[in-house]
Amino acid sequence: MSHLKPTVMKFGGTSVQDATAFARVAQIVTGERANSPIVVTSAMSKVTDALLSAFEAAKKGDHEAGFASLAPHFERHTAVARELVGEDRQKAFADELAFSKTDLRDLLMRVSRRSLPLSMLKDAIVSYGEQLSSRLLAEVCRAAGLNARQIDSRRLIVTDDEYGAATPIWEETEKQIQDELGSLIEAGEIPILGGFIAASRSGETTTLGRGGSDYSAALVGAALNSKEIQIWTDVTGVLTTDPRIVPEARTLPVLSYEEAAELAYFGAKVLHPKTIQPAVDYAIPVRVCNSHQPEERGTMVLAESGETPNKIKSLAYKKGITILRVTSARMLGSYGFMSALFQIFERHRTVIDVISTSEVSLALTIDNTDSLEQVVKDLERLGRVRIETENAVICVVGEGLRTTPGLAAKIFSTIEDINISLVSHGASSVNLTFVVKQDRAAEAIKRLHDAFFTVECSNNKAA
Ligand code: ADP
Ligand code: ASP
Ligand code: MG
Repeated sequence: MSHLKPTVMKFGGTSVQDATAFARVAQIVTGERANSPIVVTSAMSKVTDALLSAFEAAKKGDHEAGFASLAPHFERHTAVARELVGEDRQKAFADELAFSKTDLRDLLMRVSRRSLPLSMLKDAIVSYGEQLSSRLLAEVCRAAGLNARQIDSRRLIVTDDEYGAATPIWEETEKQIQDELGSLIEAGEIPILGGFIAASRSGETTTLGRGGSDYSAALVGAALNSKEIQIWTDVTGVLTTDPRIVPEARTLPVLSYEEAAELAYFGAKVLHPKTIQPAVDYAIPVRVCNSHQPEERGTMVLAESGETPNKIKSLAYKKGITILRVTSARMLGSYGFMSALFQIFERHRTVIDVISTSEVSLALTIDNTDSLEQVVKDLERLGRVRIETENAVICVVGEGLRTTPGLAAKIFSTIEDINISLVSHGASSVNLTFVVKQDRAAEAIKRLHDAFFTVECSNNKAA
């Protein structure tokens, strides 16, 4: 393994949306040249969505229309090459693009004919977003004078064959990354990888789930014991809440791994939920920063963050949540009930997010309802089941939250007229999670942000 400690730099879709953005990335990577950078890129913005729509069109039998709908996105790649890459290398990229187009057309046709499993074809199709963006970024970086080289991530990240949300097989992935990238960085080369994409042991293309490029970066960072994993995005770090709901949300200078993991899990899109674990395992700092304002430091995610005066650091939310309530006299004083219940969810591969129990009843939330019908059918053998749809989980996060008297009371009194249908507090020391109807979620977030950040902040200033 290389003795160098590289810096892993991941650029999201909006950080590579057009030629200006690509040029900015090349400049940011140039600034890190002395720190053995490894670059992980997402697809250009909107490309993954476009590939998925093309897949859906092909599924309905219209593969030609699906393919035609991709034309403007191919053109966006060509425009970047035209602007930032020399003529001979433009030709090389054009050849690559032509090859990709042929392959995509063929894959879309196979979808309409169902000649291979659809989930497998879907990953093969959607992987072209990152295959093309990484190839293009390597060309742009080379044109900017960097010793950059695209490496196919499918040779590095080895997964199971759960298409669409594959799980990496760590020992093999770690070895592949070390073997393939170690000598390159020793030689002063800058590897450019597509995030999100991987391959199963049998070599089929898989993907790590939407937003999974962050996770790719964390895996590479962990395998190479990197100095830092940088997540370059379109906002300056992790903010006090989602800026689309509260535009005045502020950057948090420091977060702990635990806080960041809870926020990501409960919907803060800025980090993919699986990103933090590899960083925790190898104690690698994660920095979330803004490619549009590279001089700003952003947020550092570290082992410890300390408490802030009001204990709360950030508010996350996730919509589309279903509550299941199970009532059963069998629960009373018996053991084995929970185990039977969890087995049902395991059997139907459905993740439980929040759970709360009383003597004879239990409420829990799920966000994936693909197997709802089967889950409910099995649960009905244990007791009476009620289903409540269209909820949102709101997660209040901060070190010291569990041990601060009066905080929960203040949170709930701030939104006292909004009905709270489930609460989970105390399982983690850094979060308080509750469920409201989803059409009240934005209002709840705004009011909590106002109470804990805007008002507290002006009080602090006045003091
Ligand atoms: P990228 O394409 O760079 O991966 P994403 O769109 O996945 O970027 O994530 C960044 C977006 O996450 C921001 O533009 C913002 O709208 C959203 N977001 C939600 N919650 C937060 C939060 N607490 N802090 C920062 N951004 C957040
Ligand atoms: N391009 C993929 C997506 O849009 C992965 C990523 O951007 O992280 O989900
Ligand atoms: Mg993202």
